[in-house]
Amino acid sequence: MATILIRHAELLVTMDDHRREIPDGGLFIRDGFIEKVGPTTEIPENADEVIDLRNHIILPGLINTHHHFYQTLTRAVPAAQNANLFNWLKTLYPIWARMKPEDIQISTQTALSELAMSGCTTAQDHLYIFPNGSRLDDEIMAAREVGVRLHASRGSMSLGESKGGLPPDSVVEEEEAILKDSQRLIEEYHDSTPGSFTQIVLAPCSPFSVTGDLMRNSAALAREYGVRLHTHLAETQDEESFCLAKFGHRPVEYMETLDWIGQDVWFAHSVHINQAEIEVYAKTGCGVAHCPSSNMRLASGIAPILRMLAAGVRVGLGVDGSASNDSSHMLAEARQALLLSRLGAAIEGASLSGTTAPPLMTARQALELATRGGAKVLGRNDIGSLEAGKCADFIAINLNRLDFAGSLHDPVAALVLCAPVQTDFTVVGGKFIVRDGRMQTIDVQNLVEAHNKAARRLINGG
Ligand SMILES: [Zn+2]
Repeated sequence: MATILIRHAELLVTMDDHRREIPDGGLFIRDGFIEKVGPTTEIPENADEVIDLRNHIILPGLINTHHHFYQTLTRAVPAAQNANLFNWLKTLYPIWARMKPEDIQISTQTALSELAMSGCTTAQDHLYIFPNGSRLDDEIMAAREVGVRLHASRGSMSLGESKGGLPPDSVVEEEEAILKDSQRLIEEYHDSTPGSFTQIVLAPCSPFSVTGDLMRNSAALAREYGVRLHTHLAETQDEESFCLAKFGHRPVEYMETLDWIGQDVWFAHSVHINQAEIEVYAKTGCGVAHCPSSNMRLASGIAPILRMLAAGVRVGLGVDGSASNDSSHMLAEARQALLLSRLGAAIEGASLSGTTAPPLMTARQALELATRGGAKVLGRNDIGSLEAGKCADFIAINLNRLDFAGSLHDPVAALVLCAPVQTDFTVVGGKFIVRDGRMQTIDVQNLVEAHNKAARRLINGG
């Protein structure tokens, strides 16, 4: 049995039910799970490996609940830089249609390396375009080499332009083939046991790129196997207008008609939802992946996150695809969540002093979205906090650095309020993915070279 002892952390942030923050903290790990957490003086003194983390802050590994890894190949594309969602998509669909299986593999490793370096230990990915023989398997295999836990979502598009959808007909699939492949993937890869590294999610792309039939059939299939459901929802005003015109419903109401509401569903974005719709989420258990950078990049709007939390909605954080962020930095995303929420509060009148001013999101709330919140959204009780029995997924950051100078009276807040940094250690199931600030499982230099070559080919039309 392999044991690891982590000791003398300056501060260990548990994110447990009591939100304990333990000075001179430590962890005792056995076979990838936490056996003991507490002050260094109260945990075992020996282990197969002992690591002193003086000057470091330790947090639970961060959880990303919405991404499109493949979009790391199309960051900062000039024609898509200054566009809203629908125009951005129409510019990028033809470029994405040139992807091959090796592009999926390379971009998966790039996105996951970037995520790991920024503190992520569990990532969802939403792959909804499968050109030139690409499969979700390409992503799953590539992710295993990196070592971050993956919730791979079998996305889909079936409503092409000729049927009134947004994507060109060339990138949509037959619905029967989508459902057959979804079933194959669940049977082959889905693992729901504690400590699972691979889970499958069914994820028709959005109301404007799939039919209601595919949504209904995907939900039925997911529920037959007990896997979760995910889609983009209420992201933009354009989407709301589309749903009203085509289906006669606002997006959330449309989901209700499709049986796409419940504990096993989470939606990316939910920017344009009203109080009654927030109550529907809260009452039925729908989760939300909040993607503040993307919502700003595409000028989509401000999701009412504090109102969702106040109503009891499960909310996690997502960096979203790298063509609309254009980064996979989890700590940066937590910072954006706080800043955007405060801008929203200002618009609602927080600059008025007095008791009527809306509350402000705190740094700890932002980190909570990225840890406990993400675990709840993905339906996992084995990650998201540092407690006995949970996965040994944690990050450590050296506080003795220029970025944090002058903030050490509250290092937890410094992680969010100071400029986002990369981790010194990112550990998943007791395995060091990042150690002393360097990726351990991937040769980053070679990867970046291969990635840039693949991106050039896609953009140049090769
Ligand atoms: Zn997205």
